[in-house]
Amino acid sequence: MRLMRVGEVGNERPVVVIDGIAFDAAVVTDDFDPSFFAGDGLDRLRAAIGTLPTVEIDGQRVGSPIARPTAIVCIGQNYAAHAAESNSPPPEHPIVFFKHPNTLVGPNDDVRIPRSATTTDWEVELAVVIGRPARYLSSHAAALACVAGYTIANDVSERTFQRNLSGGQWSKGKCAETFNPLGPYLAVDEIEDPQQLRLQTSVNGEPRQDSNTADMIFSVAELIIHLSHFMVLSPGDVLNTGTPQGVAMSGRFPYLRVDDRMDLQIDGLGQQSQRLVDADGAT
Ligand code: ZN
Repeated sequence: MRLMRVGEVGNERPVVVIDGIAFDAAVVTDDFDPSFFAGDGLDRLRAAIGTLPTVEIDGQRVGSPIARPTAIVCIGQNYAAHAAESNSPPPEHPIVFFKHPNTLVGPNDDVRIPRSATTTDWEVELAVVIGRPARYLSSHAAALACVAGYTIANDVSERTFQRNLSGGQWSKGKCAETFNPLGPYLAVDEIEDPQQLRLQTSVNGEPRQDSNTADMIFSVAELIIHLSHFMVLSPGDVLNTGTPQGVAMSGRFPYLRVDDRMDLQIDGLGQQSQRLVDADGAT
């Protein structure tokens, strides 16, 4: 099943889509937020299927498939070819940084280029939403049992903020408003192997990234195991698992400008499309 949130910003309704038919999930939960996942919401939703009314979602804005995560945990340089284009050796241990949760926007919402920014960049990533607490795990099976589902993230990045003004940590280049489009849906029980997914980006219709999650240095299960020894991953948290090669920072492509369009897709997880606007939302 696919979890979606549709409607205007701040007024999204939870919807579950099964075989292309949308059902209203509002009788089960107000929203797909951390308390939904922590309160066995997925099981309650599965049990309620068959009783839910259908709902028309065509033409409505699509929001991020989950609301108000308490953390967006991100992995850096998790593809060897991307580490190389960043002039870095492949990491020995996962590189971890955080995005402010208020960066989350819908998959097709405008992305704002920050004031004074000239090096804003795209990053398609497999995003994992955590369904149950992950602490001190040791097995792949236990790690994957903590996954609620998978979706697409664009880990939008401002490279000058990230590298030149960072002070040693990347988050300044990762936390500008609108810098984490997520969605269009959370795929639950649908992705058999998260390490066999092609992921792609294009800018203004021209190909940029084209890789496969098989090329990750640390797999989804390995990342969850590793992180669980340094923090507790909580229900509703988002884990961005890193981006492959083909970003502007490589020097092969121009950075983003107002009016550009980013298109992202991952096998089985749908597509995103964002227009770039200025820091105040204008083109
Ligand atoms: Zn990233």
